Amino acid sequence: MEQFSNKENRLGETVLEIDLGALAHNYHYFKKRLRPTTKFLGVVKAFAYGSDSIVVAKCLEDLGIDYLAVAYLKEGMALREAGIKLPILVLHPLPISFEDIIKHDLEPSLYSPKILEKFLLKARELKKKAYPVHLKFNTGLNRLGLQQSDIKDVARQLNESEEIKMVSVFSHLAASEDMNEKEFTLGQIERFCQIMEEVTLRLKSRPFRHILNTSGIINYPEAQFEMVRSGIGLYGFGNDARIDGDLQPVATLKTVISQIHDIEPGESIGYNRAFISDRPKKTATLPLGHADGIGRQYGGGNTYVTINGQSALIIGNVCMDMIMVDITNIPCEVGDEVIVFGADPTAEQFARTASTISYEILTGISQRVKRVIR
Ligand SMILES: *Cc1c(COP(=O)(O)O)cnc(C)c1O
Repeated sequence: MEQFSNKENRLGETVLEIDLGALAHNYHYFKKRLRPTTKFLGVVKAFAYGSDSIVVAKCLEDLGIDYLAVAYLKEGMALREAGIKLPILVLHPLPISFEDIIKHDLEPSLYSPKILEKFLLKARELKKKAYPVHLKFNTGLNRLGLQQSDIKDVARQLNESEEIKMVSVFSHLAASEDMNEKEFTLGQIERFCQIMEEVTLRLKSRPFRHILNTSGIINYPEAQFEMVRSGIGLYGFGNDARIDGDLQPVATLKTVISQIHDIEPGESIGYNRAFISDRPKKTATLPLGHADGIGRQYGGGNTYVTINGQSALIIGNVCMDMIMVDITNIPCEVGDEVIVFGADPTAEQFARTASTISYEILTGISQRVKRVIR
């Protein structure tokens, strides 16, 4: 049996720690930047950006958030089955899910005349009255959404039906974090205003409006309308170094040193002998790999993790279940705690070493990693 030091990771395994205090802090931070009457939608798709959607949704519900959003049916079903009562917008519903969407009181985003018609038929079949739906317009992202030219058709369908009721109209910004694209973004907002004018003209109901995501809240608060939708901001990132300092990361990925190796000059480390040492080295093996969401692009010596306050580079190839880090100058022992990302490096800094973004590393932490709530 190896002896564990007193700096050992109490958890003794790889865990994703979820800090609900940080979540509350971030929520209040954005709330303060908004008009008091602006509704707040928390985006909890993809397991609440890789954390735990049920725990996060319950916490946001307790904090008094107005709305939640998921991308797909299953994510919304999980929240309903856990007893979440808030209205839940499904951002990308597929026709195959319409029946279950209705059965679970989820509110679809309708993004084409065809989708609207199909949903209407399903609502009719299930004998619904004034079932809440949201209209999504494309204003330049060119991903999902109705076109302004669809309004006539959509208005006809909506005005003639009692089965569904349009509660909101929304759009999504393509580059709200990039101030080089300010003109483009203002153009999207302007197009959204024009769409709303026409919608108001042709439709009987008075929907509320929303277009801002996290970076939109930061950079274009004048376009908050009646609601905003924040995902990444709630989890502690604002796509902006100035804002990140005011936010707190919700997720910390921690692990533990499994084994330490002394490497002689000329010896290699890991699969395919991807790293060959030219000097004596010490390495630590950590129990997480690409099956846990740490992709192979994090190998090769560009990315660090933190051990006892010092940076240890990931060297060699990332394996499925393990990575090796260089601890040559770091006093540490088997059992010591390792911060993969959290306060330092942040998920954003960690992601940047592999030319990606916080969103990707956070949502990619696989379900094999135990979630622990703080
Ligand atoms: C994911 C998503 C959001 C959240 O964006 P953040 O940048 O994480 O705040 C908002 N709106 C839509 C339509 C989305 O798909």
